[in-house]
Formats: sequence, structure tokens, C-alpha cells
Amino acid sequence: MSWFSAATRIFFLTALAAALGLYYGHPWTAVIITLVCLIAYWLYQLRRVQLWLHDPVQRPPDVYGIWGDLLAQIYLHQRKNKEVQESLQSTVNYLQDSFASMRDGVVMVDEQGAIKWFNKAVEPLLGLRYPDDMGQTLTNLLRTPEFNAYFLGNDYASPLDYCTTDEVPSHLRVEITRFGEGARLLFVRDVTAAVRMEQVRRDFVGNVSHELRTPLTVITGYLGTFLSDSDGFAPPYHKALRQMEQQAQRMENLLKDLLWLSRIESEQHKGEQELVDIGGLLEELQSEVAHANPECTVELELGTNHRINGDYRELYSAVSNLVDNAIKYSPQDCLIKVCWRQQGDSCLLSVHDRGMGIDSVHLPRLTERFYRVDDSRSSTTGGTGIGLAIVKHVAAAHGARLQIESELGGGSTFTLVFPVRS
Ligand code: ADP
Repeated sequence: MSWFSAATRIFFLTALAAALGLYYGHPWTAVIITLVCLIAYWLYQLRRVQLWLHDPVQRPPDVYGIWGDLLAQIYLHQRKNKEVQESLQSTVNYLQDSFASMRDGVVMVDEQGAIKWFNKAVEPLLGLRYPDDMGQTLTNLLRTPEFNAYFLGNDYASPLDYCTTDEVPSHLRVEITRFGEGARLLFVRDVTAAVRMEQVRRDFVGNVSHELRTPLTVITGYLGTFLSDSDGFAPPYHKALRQMEQQAQRMENLLKDLLWLSRIESEQHKGEQELVDIGGLLEELQSEVAHANPECTVELELGTNHRINGDYRELYSAVSNLVDNAIKYSPQDCLIKVCWRQQGDSCLLSVHDRGMGIDSVHLPRLTERFYRVDDSRSSTTGGTGIGLAIVKHVAAAHGARLQIESELGGGSTFTLVFPVRS
């Protein structure tokens, strides 16, 4: 029944009562009695509605008139809400089930950093206990400084790899994603096996390189002797001896690079920490190049005297690899520009050449070991394919990143971007 028909009904009932009252000579008494009855009836219906609203689990009572209409609508809304709630709950359950069944650890934390939920897999990884740790602040429970610095640092662009301080340490990788209003989702994975494999691989390369050094020294020694006294050999052997010496020299360079890379990559190697004067380092490199490659010019542009906290030898080897490459892959009489300048909250060390450049398809893989743009390029230049892997590793060890810009035929710029810590 609509509001209008309810109002019309009241009006007609009152009018009818007034007419009857008039007939019997008591119109006002009849109207008042009718209104009192109507109010009593409405109060009764209101009471039934109120009782049902207190306990709306049951179907609504059969209420007559506008109250019945009202109840039917409330009931309809309630059922719709219930359906939406059930479907939301089943989505939440579905998501929780899928997170719970993941082999990686998952933790949800709210904007204050308090734990809202975590799956079983994370318990052994982070040492969390259910239900005691629910609602606790995550950084109060995990006391690893690297983890806390990463979690509180709010820069989750790249994952964090760290080693736990447990009795049997394990290597964990943590990735954090934000969602909702300041809440965070942590994915934790045990990468111990992968890290060990990588270590075994590095050790293997290091050991093999080390073992190959002695026989190679003997071979190059004999080759040097033969070449200094090549008259004792028939002329057809002269070319062969020179080629053997060239290839032995390449092998020596390769072993030298491999040994250096495996040394700086080894877990024991921490690198010396000192404030390195980059300007001085570049001047030393400039004079070394002037001595070894007089046909090339290295131009320095020192825009800052900022010093970098790190290992001088490592930084020197990284920049010298970049300058060596710039010379190797440029025509003779080249001009190489090396700049050291500050830009915003970073210090940039860039090596720029106008050499042959690199096609952009190669750029993503350039820092992989042994990756070469073109084998023939490197064999003519004596390249080993290790140089940029060394640069990348040294950059990472100093909190820097390597940026490469290049254009085929138009030259290249390799830039080490160091964050400036205030
Ligand atoms: P390599 O010892 O062969 O030079 P790197 O790791 O130093 O090994 O470099 C990998 C490859 O990147 C090289 O083989 C070369 O093709 C390319 N490259 C590196 N630097 C330059 C450069 N400045 N100009 C052109 N190509 C370069």
C-alpha cells in the first residue's frame, strides 16, 4: 500500500466518523475515538516492526497496510545485502585459500605495520607464530637490520635479498607490494638453494681459472722463447707461433678477468671501505691511458669533488673497463669523454665515446658474462665478454647502477649512477 492510499484511508475513516457523529449529535467525540483507534492500531503495527527489526533472522511478520509494505522493502534490502556479503566473504575466503596454499610465504600488514594475516609457509621463514603474532608490529618481531631498513624505507622497486641470522642461516628474498590505503603485502621466498648453486658455479669458475693459470704461464713462457729465437723454426711455423702467442694472450686476459670477477664476487670479499676521491682516480686512469694508448685522448670533466665510500681498486677496475671498451670499440685517434658530476641526489660518472655504438636489442643482455654483441668484434679487439659483468658487480657493491645509452654507429655513453647519501 502506498503512502497516498494510507493517507486517503485515514482521511475517509475520519470523515466517515465525523458524518456518523454528526448524525448522532457527537461529531468531535466520533472523530477523536476514530483517531485514537487509528493511533493505537499504528502503534501496534510499529511495535511488531520494531520487534522484528531486533531479530531479523525470521521472515517478517504479516503486517497490514503501509507497515507491511515498509517491512517487505526492508526485508528485500536485507536479503540483497546478505547476498553481497556472502559473495564478498567467499571471494575473501578464496583469496586467503590461494595465499594459504602458496609455497612462498605471504604476510599482510596494515598501514601501521601491524600483521593482519599470514600463511603457514611464512612461519618457518620469518619465525612467526599463529595466533600469538597476529596484530603485532612486524618490525618488532623481525630484528634483522637489512629487513627493517627495507621495510621502513618504503622503496620497494626491487626485492631485498638477505641472509638470516639463524643458527643455520638461510637466504631469503622479500618482495613488498602496496595495496588499499597504506597496507602492504609481503612475499617471502627461500632462495638458499639458488644462492648455493650460484656460489658453487662461481667457485668452480674461480678454481678452474686459477688452475689454468700455471700451465698457461708455462705455455706463454715457451712461446716467448720460441718467438725470440724464431730463426730456428722453418718459415711456415712463424705465423703459427705468432697466432699461438696472440691466443695465449687472450686466454691470459680472460683468466685475469675471471679471477678478478670471482674474487670480488666471493662472499668473503668485503672490499676496503675508504672515501675514494673519484677526481684523483680519473686523473690516474687518464695518465695510464695516455701512456698505453697515446693515439687516444681521454678528456676529463670534473664537475664535483664528491667522494665515494668504497673500494678504490674495484672502482678503478670498473672505470678502466669502461674506458678500455670505449677505446676498443672506437676508431683510432678517438676522443673519450669522462665526466664526474652531481645531478640532484645522485653523482654520475659517465664514459662517452663516438665509436661504433650498440644496437638497442643487445642492451638488456650486455652485462651478462661472456655476452658479446658480435664475436668478430671482440676477437679483433681481444675482448673477453667479462668487462661489463665486472662493472655491473662493482656498481651494485657500491649501491650504484649502470645506465647504458647507445646508438648503432653513433657512439655510446656508460654511466654509473651513485646515490648521494647526506
Ligand atoms: P669485451 O671484453 O668483449 O669488451 P664487455 O663485457 O666489456 O666484453 O662488453 C660486452 C660487449 O659489449 C662487447 O663485446 C662489445 O660488443 C659491447 N661493448 C661494450 N662497450 C662498448 C662500447 N663502448 N662501444 C661499443 N660496444 C661496446
